[in-house]
Amino acid sequence: MAQVTLRKVVKKYDEVLAVRGIDLDIADKEFIVLVGPSGCGKSTTLRMIAGLEEISGGDIAIGGDVVNDVPPKDRDIAMVFQNYALYPHMNVYENMSFGLKLKKTPKDVIDQRVKQAAQILDITELLDRKPKQLSGGQRQRVAMGRAIVRDPKVFLFDEPLSNLDAKLRVQMRTEIKKVHQKVRTTTVYVTHDQVEAMTLADRVVVMNGGLIEQVGSPNDLYHSPATKFVAGFIGSPAMNFITCQLEQTAGALRVRLNDTLSFPVPADRTARYTAHVGKPSLMLGLRPEHITETKPHTESNQHDFDMVIDVVEPMGMETLVYFTVNGREVCGRVNPNAGAEAARSMKLRADLSNMHLIDDSTGKVL
Ligand code: ADP
Repeated sequence: MAQVTLRKVVKKYDEVLAVRGIDLDIADKEFIVLVGPSGCGKSTTLRMIAGLEEISGGDIAIGGDVVNDVPPKDRDIAMVFQNYALYPHMNVYENMSFGLKLKKTPKDVIDQRVKQAAQILDITELLDRKPKQLSGGQRQRVAMGRAIVRDPKVFLFDEPLSNLDAKLRVQMRTEIKKVHQKVRTTTVYVTHDQVEAMTLADRVVVMNGGLIEQVGSPNDLYHSPATKFVAGFIGSPAMNFITCQLEQTAGALRVRLNDTLSFPVPADRTARYTAHVGKPSLMLGLRPEHITETKPHTESNQHDFDMVIDVVEPMGMETLVYFTVNGREVCGRVNPNAGAEAARSMKLRADLSNMHLIDDSTGKVL
């Protein structure tokens, strides 16, 4: 078990600056997920930790030792890929024990570790089967088993679930979390799927354009995004962004969306926002769940408004409603029994205590 440290790590492929000098401290036993859109540099970062890519600048340390020049096989890491790379002619037991055999580990130690890993992963009854006799989810488990038996300092996962169907992905996600709760090995996991990132990680690292946008617990990122990018990337349906202006009237602030729609800013935000009164390029960020149907009881900072609904999407436990403000589509989440109908006006409620104010010129949440 070990901590992993990245200091000013850079990766250049000829002209492409894939990773632009990132710093990251991963604690011992921590489950870290690197997430971001395609091309943001997350796989490159993982591959540099693994030693599969040389770094162009900076330092990477595992367990306190700088490993920049250490070959992958000597880094004491185990990697699980999306194509499980199981040997087709070996059964599950042989696949799991192969790496240990190469390292001349005593037979009884191998046997004990394979059986223990098989138990953790609930694949004991599959040990005699060949990979082609296994389902996708079972193969995924064997690939994890092969990593576990090596008892490495760090597990590295590169989009391990992307070849599975939607239902199995959700199931395997839970399996991976359970395994980590049992073995507690430091884990770095790459995915483009923000739900996977949120559900698995102790801390999520959101990457964009070769840089780290924000590092935080899933709840931190969701409730206190530092940038518009993170605010829009984490959460589904995504946070609404509406152009707005900040007005000061008699000591109180209002966020004005247009001539007919404005809301008072919560009093506890006044000090933070006053400097931005009158600024151009401001945006109000409000998650869909903070736009609901109106209710009999009103909490502070909740404000009702009327809106013509464009589209209604029943989801079962809730209904999504879409309407247009300042030329942008805005999504709200209402009760299925709230009577939402397309092309009809509806009384909605915005909960401004969960508002975000964004400077669209810098992308920063204010
Ligand atoms: P992600 O995993 O986030 O999708 P990658 O780390 O694979 O992104 O890639 C980051 C950037 O580096 C992309 O612009 C990609 O095109 C580029 N890149 C990745 N691998 C290579 C390579 N072997 N040669 C040249 N460019 C590469």
